[in-house]
Amino acid sequence: MLGSASKAFFQLLAQSRTLKKLATRFAMRTPASFVRRFVPGETVEDAIRAARVLEAHGLTETFDHLGESVTTLAEAVAATRDYLDVVRAVTESGVERNISLKLTQLGLDVDRASAVDNLRKILELAEPAGFFVRIDMESSQYTEVTLDVFETLWQQGYRQIGVVLQSDLYRSEDDLRRINALGARIRLVKGAYREPKSVAYQKKADVDAAYARMMKVLITDGHYPAIATHDPAMIDLARQWAVEHGVASDRFEFQMLYGVRRDLQAMLVGAGYRLRVYVPFGRDWFPYFMRRLGEHPANVGFVLRSLAGEGR
Ligand SMILES: Cc1cc2nc3c(=O)[nH]c(=O)nc-3n(C[C@H](O)[C@H](O)[C@H](O)COP(=O)(O)OP(=O)(O)OC[C@H]3O[C@@H](n4cnc5c(N)ncnc54)[C@H](O)[C@@H]3O)c2cc1C
Repeated sequence: MLGSASKAFFQLLAQSRTLKKLATRFAMRTPASFVRRFVPGETVEDAIRAARVLEAHGLTETFDHLGESVTTLAEAVAATRDYLDVVRAVTESGVERNISLKLTQLGLDVDRASAVDNLRKILELAEPAGFFVRIDMESSQYTEVTLDVFETLWQQGYRQIGVVLQSDLYRSEDDLRRINALGARIRLVKGAYREPKSVAYQKKADVDAAYARMMKVLITDGHYPAIATHDPAMIDLARQWAVEHGVASDRFEFQMLYGVRRDLQAMLVGAGYRLRVYVPFGRDWFPYFMRRLGEHPANVGFVLRSLAGEGR
């Protein structure tokens, strides 16, 4: 399948240190850089500026300070400090208070207890300030530990937190029951990582069918779920399902990535739906950007056209 081959190819490129070094140094140089289509900038000020534009058009946002898989505790502590600064900057700015983060960024690969402590530090500052904190879902080797950490924090009384489930994993329908039973907010996605067939559907039709099943459960029985997709068929189905089951449009929200299907984003807001845009920013944008290219090879054409334009 082209989709999974291209995901695998771009996942491989994402691991190239040389490419990453080169890209990080040069690709964000100009305000018109092709990277800025998907990542508004490297600083929190860039992200807040993008958020203001979104809010002016009736959209909301969640901020993601890019970074993943740190390999030392010092890096994890630095990433935590960065997030605390983001929470402070967003609070001061007056834009909506909503962040997304990854556990490997907070040190999950180094030491689980430290990663949880780091997350707790962020929650201690963010929750009283009225933030919602979404724990992104990473590749399948982290699914169980991410849900365990989430459940532990939930049991400790944190309520302004939510998690993500990926419809490409076989296990996710069971996980949906497990997390929904807590009363927690779930973001439903198809899954951005190349996964083996021992754990995940390989055919797009199967991933989509699982997405549709999970989405229906979330809309009727979920807790303010986030339907995160750019797929017009899934979006139509969600709208239709909600109407048929008398679920008001403010009981769930759609979510999309910054720079992706802006036409669809505007259309949904115009039709009276809630739409949250995932706004990633930071110096470590390279793996995120490569995943976006991998899931939609047409974006490579966009990059090449922009490069040709920048060369002029
Ligand atoms: C808000 C948000 C948060 C996410 N969080 C996570 C997470 O925590 N963990 C995780 O694994 N994944 C996450 N994802 C990514 C997700 O898993 C998918 O990889 C991604 O959304 C593409 O799938 P799709 O549902 O849009 O449908 P697809 O079937 O892949 O695409 C449907 C249509 O959407 C458009 N489209 C999709 N992707 C792109 C793109 N990159 N560029 C341009 N057009 C595109 C195309 O028109 C395509 O035909 C998130 C996605 C969103 C929107």
